[in-house]
Amino acid sequence: MTRPAQPDFAVLGGGLCGRLVAWRLAGLGHRVALYERGDAAGSQAAAWVAAAMLAPLAEAASAELLITRLGASSLDSWPQVLAELPEPVFFQRNGTLVVWHHADRTEAPLFERRVRSNAPPELLDGGFVTLAAAQLGAAEPALAGRFNQGWLLPREGQLDNRQVLAALAAGLAQRGVETHWNTAVDDRALPSAHITIDCRGLGAKSVLPTLRGIRGEVARVHAPGIKLTRPVRLLHPRYPLYIAPKQDDLYVIGATEVEGEDMSPVSVRSALELLSAAFSVHPGFGEARILELNSQCRPTLPDHRPALLWDGAQTLRVNGLYRHGYMIVPEVADEAVRFAAALLDGRIGDADAFADWQRGARWSELFQLDSAREPA
Ligand SMILES: Cc1cc2nc3c(=O)[nH]c(=O)nc-3n(C[C@H](O)[C@H](O)[C@H](O)COP(=O)(O)OP(=O)(O)OC[C@H]3O[C@@H](n4cnc5c(N)ncnc54)[C@H](O)[C@@H]3O)c2cc1C
Repeated sequence: MTRPAQPDFAVLGGGLCGRLVAWRLAGLGHRVALYERGDAAGSQAAAWVAAAMLAPLAEAASAELLITRLGASSLDSWPQVLAELPEPVFFQRNGTLVVWHHADRTEAPLFERRVRSNAPPELLDGGFVTLAAAQLGAAEPALAGRFNQGWLLPREGQLDNRQVLAALAAGLAQRGVETHWNTAVDDRALPSAHITIDCRGLGAKSVLPTLRGIRGEVARVHAPGIKLTRPVRLLHPRYPLYIAPKQDDLYVIGATEVEGEDMSPVSVRSALELLSAAFSVHPGFGEARILELNSQCRPTLPDHRPALLWDGAQTLRVNGLYRHGYMIVPEVADEAVRFAAALLDGRIGDADAFADWQRGARWSELFQLDSAREPA
């Protein structure tokens, strides 16, 4: 009996990035195998817990220009990605509303200054609209009379994270990807393939020692009757809190940001803060039903940037998506797919070819030659 030929690509980690990369490579006609330690739903991934807001301008309050530019391009790409998936995914581009309570009003100028200095000018142009109380009430009737002022960032978006993961799983099956769910990959016994693409998020820590987790906690509640029409960000001195309305009166309320790889359940303090924040935005949240309190860690590199790390041989690692995975993954995955295809067909084989590739890449800042980090 002959052994089946090894696949072109083994993708390690079937969270957000691994699924998208594997699905795209399969769409180009490659033979792809995907290995995920958790289930097909994606419940072991940071992507499972995320709010999946696509908010490059709001994120400019804490993110640098590279991230906001990646986010703006990716926001334009998502509809095309979703149109090709075999299952529907809730996607909305109805903007972000930013509000603050009177007691936290000193946060507002700080937020505005940071956004204006970190965001690309094309995002700011018409994308950052000051609302007086009456305009705010007209834009978001559920909040009429509740805030004196706010900002509408009209071009921002969001999607349903769990629907994306499910639709990508269906897409992998449709494109014939060999999926190995509930299969943890051990670095000492990697699956056989021409090229390995490591998308294990925090699970790649053994080979990326500078990777760290930043804990985030969220609440999911069912709150019929409130009818927010877009994500609302509440400026807050400790962390940027948001309430993201999904389909069927489901709201994701998040998120804390705590240094440390603590995957333990949500703390009482965080639950109180998240739920109080929601209640302070709209008292109707007092009657909401808590469906889930959950925590996960965002995979983060020291510079808080995503990276495509080539080991100089057969392995590409895609990691460091931090708090921006959904916001930037279409562009990051595209770069990874192009690079991986060039590795497979031999266009990249040494440091010179890598440097040439990097010079010509759309997002050259993402690429790093990483032979130093390989285990001996
Ligand atoms: C609370 C919270 C809120 C967030 N909100 C947003 C948001 O609003 N917008 C946004 O853009 N981003 C958000 N994010 C960030 C986003 O979720 C991450 O950036 C994204 O999930 C990273 O994708 P990834 O594929 O690299 O990692 P993951 O999604 O974590 O996937 C990695 C996968 O690898 C698997 N794995 C690990 N080790 C192994 C192994 N040894 N073998 C096999 N499989 C393995 C894991 O099980 C997992 O499924 C949020 C994150 C958190 C935690």
